[in-house]
Amino acid sequence: MSTVSIYDSPGLDQLRRSLKADPLCVRRMRNGLLKQGLPDETALAAFPAPDQVSLHTLELFQRHDSTLDGATKLLFRTADALLIESVILRIASGRTTLCISSQVGCAVACEFCATGKMGLRRNLSSGEMLDQVLQSIQLLAGEGRRLRNIVFMGMGEPLHNEEQLCATLDALTLPELFHFASTRILVSTVGVPDAMLRLAGRYPTMRVALSLHSVDENVRQRLIPLAWKYPLEQLRCTLEELNRRSNAAVMIEYLLLAGVNDSLTNARQLIEWLSGLNVHVNLIPYNSIEEAAGLAGSDEPARTLFAATLKAAGLKTTLRYSLGSDIAAACGQLVRHENRRHHQARRSTSTEVC
Ligand code: SF4
Repeated sequence: MSTVSIYDSPGLDQLRRSLKADPLCVRRMRNGLLKQGLPDETALAAFPAPDQVSLHTLELFQRHDSTLDGATKLLFRTADALLIESVILRIASGRTTLCISSQVGCAVACEFCATGKMGLRRNLSSGEMLDQVLQSIQLLAGEGRRLRNIVFMGMGEPLHNEEQLCATLDALTLPELFHFASTRILVSTVGVPDAMLRLAGRYPTMRVALSLHSVDENVRQRLIPLAWKYPLEQLRCTLEELNRRSNAAVMIEYLLLAGVNDSLTNARQLIEWLSGLNVHVNLIPYNSIEEAAGLAGSDEPARTLFAATLKAAGLKTTLRYSLGSDIAAACGQLVRHENRRHHQARRSTSTEVC
């Protein structure tokens, strides 16, 4: 039997009419599921033909809860048996943030990133991005929590999957679906200027983050190989244009890497590069990955000094702390680990067969 997706409004309405059901039943089912995070069966009970509605595109494959802090990593399996990650961050203030993936793997190939080492397998569909949100809302509702923020900072470069990203953002913000405030959604990019401006035009109050990591062209291109396409000067012009269009500060993500971009000189160069812009700098500690043996996170004194230097220069700055270091919460680490385990198991099986 064919089913209708929970996100397919015309399809659901047609199904409801064919069943001669109460016009409010679709709304009740969706509100229960997408806004309150009720379990599947409870939400579907509001609809007269629950077996004709499909809710999920992903299967929850593994769940890893940090024993150190409030992070949970969710590993999902797609219908074509690929693994992707989402991370729930329960911050001490009580706020809950979900970090979702937009692609399986990533073509940007950042030096410090486990996902970048995989290459790009494929884009995620909007349904797959939304299901990461839906399943997380349900999980949190079971704990009596509500999801507050959604960040597109998981596997993939969201602006390389722009069409499906926009379909996802539409569904997240639509009143009849998730009805999520766009001010609580953040899309993080390594910097794709045209797409950044298109996104800002379409969702003026949504937050944008630029992963900058260095204002030295050579260092940045070493860290983010695709950065050669969009020089720093072009990114600076893009930030100026974003500032002209919105009063909200653009987030600047800066990973602190020992001996690479964390010196006092680097801090002063960053201050100069950002001068005159309305930005908020997030300094991020680095969780080492084995695939990037040459990179290590800056130590605590270097991080503190770097943050203090920026603040003293009047830059809005947050020194982030690392969450979920015991559950491989850095982007792509767990998927890489699972994929390797799977391949090793297959190799040893085929060796045994030989
Ligand atoms: S950091 Fe982001 S953009 Fe860079 S390789 Fe990883 S997923 Fe892709």
